[in-house]
Amino acid sequence: MESVYIGLGSNLAEPQSQLRAALQALQALPDSRLIGCSSLYASDPLGPADQPRYVNAVAALDTRLEPHALLDQLQRIELEQGRQRKAERWGPRTLDLDILMFGERVLHDERLTVPHYHMHARAFVLYPLAELAPGLQLPDGRVLTELLTACPFTGLERIAAAPLPTVTA
Ligand code: ATP
Ligand code: MG
Ligand code: MG
Repeated sequence: MESVYIGLGSNLAEPQSQLRAALQALQALPDSRLIGCSSLYASDPLGPADQPRYVNAVAALDTRLEPHALLDQLQRIELEQGRQRKAERWGPRTLDLDILMFGERVLHDERLTVPHYHMHARAFVLYPLAELAPGLQLPDGRVLTELLTACPFTGLERIAAAPLPTVTA
């Protein structure tokens, strides 16, 4: 089993319900075990400002799936929850599931960049991730505590307790 962190986001069609449904779908993934989920956070949108605020969380999953097979599963869940891919970057969506970290792996191809290319600078990723894995280290040696120091808790608001019991790494 490898330890994976997944970033969840939604700003359409009852975002909190979208995240709870996504967690149930993660719980049902083959060859995998959902370990926990952070609290839910509201965050200001990236990109176009004329869209609702997001609800974000991070989930921890242990899996035997390979990274691309996991991405296939995450994209299936996004589609099943009504995700429409539009030309506009960072536009509103019912559900976004991003692979933040996949064990110690470093991947870069046309479908997958791991660790997620921008996780180091996103408060809505780093603060929820810190609830699950405060001692986390990226494959390049950077530690989560350093990244948090450089990333203010701006535009972020904790809005609900973890939807699942959390196991801290
Ligand atoms: P961002 O990646 O900046 O958060 P986004 O999540 O809105 O933007 P999407 O439209 O969800 O972007 O995904 C665009 C493409 O990103 C996907 O088709 C997928 O192949 C690719 N991708 C690359 N790395 C990852 C990753 N670590 N997790 C999920 N998708 C990824
Ligand atoms: Mg994203
Ligand atoms: Mg995405």
